Amino acid sequence: MFDRRDALKSIIVGGAASIFSPNTLLASTAPAKEKLGIALVGLGYYSTDLLAPALQTTEKCYLAGIVTGSPEKAEKWKQKYNIPDKNIYNYQNFDSIANNPDIDVVYVVLPPSMHKEYTIRAAKAGKHVFCEKPMAPSVNDCLAMIKACNDNKVKLAIGYRCQHDPNTQEFMRITKEKLYGKVRMVACGTGYFDNRTTHWKQNKALGGGVMGDMGVYALQGARLATGEEPIAVTAQASTTRPEIYKEVEETMMFQLQFPSGALAACHTSFGIQMNYLQVNYERGWLKMDSLSNYSGNKGSHSKGIIDFPLKSQQAKQLDEDCMALMNSTQLIAPGEEGLRDIKVVEAIYKAAKNGGTVKI
Ligand code: NAD
Repeated sequence: MFDRRDALKSIIVGGAASIFSPNTLLASTAPAKEKLGIALVGLGYYSTDLLAPALQTTEKCYLAGIVTGSPEKAEKWKQKYNIPDKNIYNYQNFDSIANNPDIDVVYVVLPPSMHKEYTIRAAKAGKHVFCEKPMAPSVNDCLAMIKACNDNKVKLAIGYRCQHDPNTQEFMRITKEKLYGKVRMVACGTGYFDNRTTHWKQNKALGGGVMGDMGVYALQGARLATGEEPIAVTAQASTTRPEIYKEVEETMMFQLQFPSGALAACHTSFGIQMNYLQVNYERGWLKMDSLSNYSGNKGSHSKGIIDFPLKSQQAKQLDEDCMALMNSTQLIAPGEEGLRDIKVVEAIYKAAKNGGTVKI
C-alpha cells in the first residue's frame, strides 16, 4: 500500500531532487530544501543560550518552530526569531506538528524524564528527532525511543556535541591508530558547582542526578578514549549537601573495566569543578583540559598538541546531523549511542546501591 509518510521520509532522507510536505506530496513540485526546519521543544537554558543562537549561524538548518508551555516565552521567541504563529506549539497541540511541512526535525530539550514521551510523539508525527543527553533515565525508555523512530521511519540523533568537536575526534584517532600502543589507564572528571536547589537536576522523577547529566561526559571520555565498551563497573555515590541532594547523587565516582584490560577511574559532580581526561597508553600519554566544554577544548600528548579551533560546537553538530539526514548517511551519535551510555549508567547506579562489581 502507498504510504504518503513513508514516501516523504524516503525523499527527505534519500536526498532526492524534491522534498514534499505530507499535504502536498502527490501534487507538489516543490524544490529541494536547502535548509531543514528545526522545532525546539523546551525553551530553557540550553535552547535559549546555546541552540537558538547556534541556529542563527547554521547552513543546513534554521529555527523554524518552537514548542513551549509558556505563552510569554512563545511571544518573546516569536518576536526575537521571527517565528510565524503557525510554527508555535504548546505541549497539548504538539502532535498537530505532523501537518506542518516547515518542520523537518523536532529537537527535544526537556528534562530527561520527558525525552521518551516527546521523542515518541515527534516520531509518530513523522518528524526526525534530535534528543538531548542523557537520552533517557532507563534502558527501556531508550529502546522504546529507538523503536518508535524505526517504526515511523525517522532518524534519531542524540545531542552529543563533543563527538562533533575535532578535539574529541583527535584523541579518538590517536587511540584508533594505536599511536602509543594499547590504552592501559584512563582518568576522567567532569563536574561543576551547581548552586540551584530545586531544579530538575535535583529531582529524581524528572531524571535528575549527576550521573546522567555531567556523568555521561566522563563516561564518554572513557569510552571514546579507549574505543571500547565497558564490561564491568564499580561505583560510589556521595553528597556533601544532603539537604539539597535528597533524592539523587551530587557526586558519583565510577570505575570501568574494558575488554582489553584497560581501566578507567571516572568522577562526576554537581559540587566539584573539573573537566579533564588523562589517557595512559603502553608507550605514551594524552591529556585533555578541558575535555567537554562548549569551546576551547584542547590537550597534549607525548608527541604533540591537540588544539583545533571551532566556532560553535552546537552549529557544527546541527549542520552535520542535518547533512546526514539530507544525504542519508550515518549520524555521528544515533539513538544506539545514547543507549550504550544508559546501559552503563544503569550498571553504575546498581553498583553504587549494592556495592561490588556489576557486569554489563
Ligand atoms: P532547563 O531547566 O533550563 O530547561 C528545561 C525546559 O523544560 C524549560 O523550558 C522548562 O520550562 C521545560 N519543562 C517542561 N516541563 C517541565 C517540567 N515538568 N519540569 C521542568 N522543566 C520542564 O534545562 P536545560 O539545562 O535546558 O536542559 C534541558 C536538556 O538539555 C536536558 O536533557 C539537559 O541534559 C540537556 N542539556 C544539554 C547540554 C549539552 O551541552 N548538550 C547542556 C545543557 C543541557
